[in-house]
Amino acid sequence: MGSVFITGGSRGIGAACVRAFAEAGRPAAFTYSARRDKAEALAAETGALALCADSADRDAVESAVKTARESLGAIDTVVCNAGIAQQKLFQDITDDEWLTMLNVNLMGAVRTIRAALPDMLHCQKGSIVIVSSMWGERGASCESHYAASKAALIGLSKSLALELGPSGIRVNCVAPGVIDTDMNAMHGGDVMQSLADETPLERIGRADEVADSILYLCSEKASFVTGQVLGVTGGF
Ligand code: NAD
Repeated sequence: MGSVFITGGSRGIGAACVRAFAEAGRPAAFTYSARRDKAEALAAETGALALCADSADRDAVESAVKTARESLGAIDTVVCNAGIAQQKLFQDITDDEWLTMLNVNLMGAVRTIRAALPDMLHCQKGSIVIVSSMWGERGASCESHYAASKAALIGLSKSLALELGPSGIRVNCVAPGVIDTDMNAMHGGDVMQSLADETPLERIGRADEVADSILYLCSEKASFVTGQVLGVTGGF
């Protein structure tokens, strides 16, 4: 089995993925762009390789993938998780904010997959999971650039599933609902409570619950699953 490359692994859903793959005994590397202390602590805890790489920087992403390949061996599993969010009215979002959102959320995934793909094409085997969002499917008020970037990731994932399927490479998305991570720290407790109330399972999700779905999609148990969007939303 090859190695795993996870973007944005220092905290939240990405860190839960790093832990889940470590528990599954998979050699893994993860990127981070800030909070080196957190990344190093997670690397020490899990044995995973922490690599500083901003998803918005093509050279940094390519260099991180190269280092992971040289340290851990050929990459056959990629989790594109790194992402940013911002709450703003549509008419107040500047061009720069649109471009930053797309550069990190969409192009970060594009760069990561493009850099890791030669290993998977060589082995004619691999699994890619892209972390989208339920807001990418439903749309989101005051987060149009975020929702658009997440909808684009679904299009990317479905297109790559078609293009790479004949090479034995599966590509799927997870679309988390409201998950208890730093990303939602911008919301007050009352907003989180009302989102929990709207959720049929009547609670906010945990990062490890998303990571378990990602682990499933990357595993042999999902060997005939590709081009899918798996909602991890508590039924939202
Ligand atoms: P988080 O803010 O805790 O984590 C985001 C991760 O992305 C961090 O590890 C951060 O270092 C990394 N990151 C951010 N910008 C980066 C950059 N430029 N380069 C490299 N890494 C970068 O949030 P999270 O909830 O764990 O988010 C993980 C993914 O899940 C994101 O793509 C997010 O859009 C998606 N998601 C989250 C929720 C939720 O409710 N938390 C819901 C749906 C989708």
